[in-house]
Amino acid sequence: MLASIPTFAPRILVRTGAAPSDKDAAIREAAQLLTAAGCIDEAYGESMLRRESVANTYLGHGVVIPHGMVDERHLVRHSGLAVLQVPDGVLWHDGQMAHLVVAIAAQSDTHIMVLRRLTRLIQDEARLEHLRVTRREADIVAALSQDTAPAAAGPAADLRQRFDWTVDYPTGLHARPAAHWVEVAKSCSARVQVRHGAQVADAKSLIGLLQLGLHCGDAVTISAEGDDEAGALAKIRAAVTRLSAGEKAAARRAAEAAAEAAGPVAGWNPSDAPRILAGIGASPGLSIGPIHVLADAAVTVLDEPEPLTTGADRLHHALAATAGQLKALADDTERRLGKADAGIFRAQAELIADTDLITLACQLMVEGHGVAYAWHQAVDRLAGQLAALGNPVLAGRAADLRDVGRRVLAQIDPALKGRHALPDRPCILIAPDLAPSDTAGLEPSRVIGLATAQGGPSSHSAILARTLGIPALVAGGPGLLDLVDGTPAILDGGTGRLYLDPSAADIASAEAWRDRLRQQAEAEARERTRPARTRDGHAVAIGANINNPEQVPFALDQGAEGVGLMRTEFLFLERGDTPSEDDHNATYVAMLKALDGRPLIVRTLDIGGDKQVAHLQLPREENPFLGVRGARLLLRRPDLMEPQLRALYRAARDHVGPGAPTGAHAPLSIMMPMITSVPEVLRLRAIAEGIRAEIGAPYVPLGIMIEVPAAAIQADVLARHCDFFSIGTNDLTQYALAIDRQNTELAPEADSLHPAVLRLILMTCEGAARHKRFVGVCGGIAGDPFGACLLAGLGVHELSMTPRDLPGVKARLRGADMSALRALASQACEQEDAAAVRALDRERAPELGTGVAA
Ligand code: PEP
Ligand code: MG
Repeated sequence: MLASIPTFAPRILVRTGAAPSDKDAAIREAAQLLTAAGCIDEAYGESMLRRESVANTYLGHGVVIPHGMVDERHLVRHSGLAVLQVPDGVLWHDGQMAHLVVAIAAQSDTHIMVLRRLTRLIQDEARLEHLRVTRREADIVAALSQDTAPAAAGPAADLRQRFDWTVDYPTGLHARPAAHWVEVAKSCSARVQVRHGAQVADAKSLIGLLQLGLHCGDAVTISAEGDDEAGALAKIRAAVTRLSAGEKAAARRAAEAAAEAAGPVAGWNPSDAPRILAGIGASPGLSIGPIHVLADAAVTVLDEPEPLTTGADRLHHALAATAGQLKALADDTERRLGKADAGIFRAQAELIADTDLITLACQLMVEGHGVAYAWHQAVDRLAGQLAALGNPVLAGRAADLRDVGRRVLAQIDPALKGRHALPDRPCILIAPDLAPSDTAGLEPSRVIGLATAQGGPSSHSAILARTLGIPALVAGGPGLLDLVDGTPAILDGGTGRLYLDPSAADIASAEAWRDRLRQQAEAEARERTRPARTRDGHAVAIGANINNPEQVPFALDQGAEGVGLMRTEFLFLERGDTPSEDDHNATYVAMLKALDGRPLIVRTLDIGGDKQVAHLQLPREENPFLGVRGARLLLRRPDLMEPQLRALYRAARDHVGPGAPTGAHAPLSIMMPMITSVPEVLRLRAIAEGIRAEIGAPYVPLGIMIEVPAAAIQADVLARHCDFFSIGTNDLTQYALAIDRQNTELAPEADSLHPAVLRLILMTCEGAARHKRFVGVCGGIAGDPFGACLLAGLGVHELSMTPRDLPGVKARLRGADMSALRALASQACEQEDAAAVRALDRERAPELGTGVAA
C-alpha cells in the first residue's frame, strides 16, 4: 500500500543569512527561489500569501512552513523546498518568531513527508540551534533529508488510593451520569482519576470521561491522591454506585415503552412473545442470526505524548495506508454499487490529503501532544468548523471528514480499530450509527442485517444498505446498544423491528417467511417489465427517479416506463460551478436519447432547503426550508432559470421536431418545484412560453410539483394553469406535519402515510380531475408497495420511484383490484394516525391480494 504513495525527492533550495523585513517579504523571497528553480508558477507565491490569511503556518520552535492554497496546487510544477535561514528572526504570527522559513511546493501526499522531517528536526534542539546560524547550506539540506530513530512511551499509572468498579449502567457512562461524577470530583480538592485499561481520564473533566467511552460491563479503576484522598475516594464511590439503580430503571422504562409500541405489523409476526425493539424500516427483508454490538463510534483518544520522531512516522504511515484502503474501497464500491457511490470514497481520499488538516495535526504534535490525539483533535476542529457553517453540504463534508479521520486513527493505533472487528460467523450488526464507508464496506455474507440506534431512513447509510440488499432498521434508540453480543435475533428491515431471543417455532416461521419473500422477489423480478395493470384493468404509469443518462439502462431494466422525476439540482451539486446552457442541453438530449421515445419529466432547479450549492453563495437563511427555495429561487434568479429553460426547449425542438402535432404525447415535460401560489405559476409559465417562442420549440407540457399544503388545497385552481401535477410527498409530509425532513429525532413521526398527508393527496387528485389533469407522485412513498396501492386508490395516475423499488411496486399493483384500492384509500383517509393506516396493510392483505401469503 505504501508503494502507491509517491516518494518525495524535492529540490532543496537554501538561502542562509536572510533578513526579510517582514513575513510577506520572507514568503516572497522563498517563493522567488522556488520560481527561479522552476518548481512553481510565479502565481503560487501569491497563493502562499493568501494561505497565511486563512491559516497559521507556524509549526513550532522557530520553524514556519508557508505553502499555497489547496485548490491552487496545479501551480506546483516540481516538488521543492525553499529554506530561508533568518538568524535574527522574522515576526510571524501572534508574536511568534521564525528563524527557518521552509516554503513547501509539494503535491498533497508529499506534504506529510516534509512535515515528518521537520517534526523530527524540531526534536533536536541543539541541531536546530545550529541550523539557525550555520553558514553551510549543506547542513540545512542534510537536516531536511534525514530520518532519525524512534523511541518508546510509558504505561498509564493509578493514583495512590484506588478502588475497582465494573460499569453497571445499562447505557454505559453517558453524559448525564458523567456530569454527576464530575460534579462530585470537583467538590474534592484531591486529584481523582478514572482508568480503563491503558486509558486514563481526569474525573473532573466531562470530555475526558466521555472520551473513555465506557460501556456496561467495562472494568475501571478509580483512584485519588492529595488532600483527604481517602475521603474523596469514598465520596466518589458513593456517587458512582448510587446512580446504578436509577440508570437501570431508566433503561427498563425505555425498553418497555419500545415494546409497548411494538404491536402486530404487516408482514411477519411472531407467534410467541419475544422481546421487541422497534425502529424504522430502512431496507426490507428478514435476517435471522446472532447480534453483534459495535461499540460507540465516538472513539476514545487519550493524549499519550510520544517523541515527535515516532509520531510523525506513524502519522505518515497511517495516512499512506488509509489512502490505499480508500482506493481499494472505492474500486470495490464502484464494482458493486456503481460510480456514484464510489465517489464518496474518492472524495474522502482528498480530505485526508488536505494540507490544513495535516499541518494542524503536526502543529499539535509539535506542541507536545500524542499523534493519535493530535490527529483526532485536528479532524475534530476542522470538522467542527465545517459543521458550524450551517450549510448542509459542508456539514456532510464534516461527517465525511470524521469518518475518514477514524480510519486514519485506526491505522495510527490498531487498538482503536479493534472495536470494529466482526465475529467470524454471520451476524446482525448493531451500531450507534454507521458512516457511509462502514456501510459500504459491509459484506452481505458476514453482515446479514443492520440495526442502528440513530439515523433516518433517508440517510446515506440506509440507502447503501438497500443497494447492498442488507435488511436494515434505523433509529432503534439507545436500548439497542445495551444488547448482549451473540443474542439470537430476527430483524425485519421492512417493519423496522428487532425480535430478541425468538423461540425455535418463531425462527422456523421467520425462515419460512423469508424463503417466501425471496421467492416473491424473484417472481417480481421476472415480471418487472410487465405493466402495472390492476386485476380489473386499470393501468398505473410507472416511472423512475433518476438524474443522469447513465442511470437509464438500469431503470429500464427494472421495469421503468419513463422518467417521472429528473432532479436537475444534481447538475449543480455534483460540480463546483454552474452548468452552462450547453451543458444542460447536452444532458437533456442524452437523457432523451437514452430513453428512446419514453417520457421524461425534467424538474427545473430545486435549490434551497437541504439542497445547498456552495458555489452559488446564496444568502444564509434562518429557516431555509421556509425560505427562498424551489420556484421562489427560480423567479429571483433568471440567470439560473433561463439558461436551463432554453436548454430544455432546445432539446424539445431538436428531439421532438417542430412539426409534432399539438397535444401529441411529447416525450419531454417540464416541471416546476415548490409551487405555493397561482401568481408563481403564471409568472413561470410566461417566462417559459417567452423562451419557447424565441427558440421556436414545440409545446412542452408544463407541470408543477405539489409539495406544500397550500398548493394541495388550491389544486383545483392551480390545475387551470398547468398541464399536470407531480406530488412531492417528501416535502408535502414535511410541511403538512411541520417536521423538518432531516430531523432524525422526529423521523419516526414523519410518515407520508399520515392521514393528513393522504387527505392532501386526495384533494390534489380531485382538484386535478376537475380539469382532467394528470397526477403523478415522485416522493419516496411511491416506492413503498403499500403506499403505491394507497396512492393509486386515491386517484394518482403515475408513480415514480428509485429504480430498485420498481419490481415490487408493479407486482403489488398487478395483484390488486382498483375498486378495492379505492375503498382502501378512503378508509385510510378516515384513520386517526399513520400507524392505523399502516395497520390496514395487514388487516386487508387477503382481500387486496397483497403481501406474502402466510
Ligand atoms: C419530494 O419532495 O417528495 C420530492 C420528490 O422532491 P425532493 O425530494 O427532491 O425535495
Ligand atoms: Mg421536494
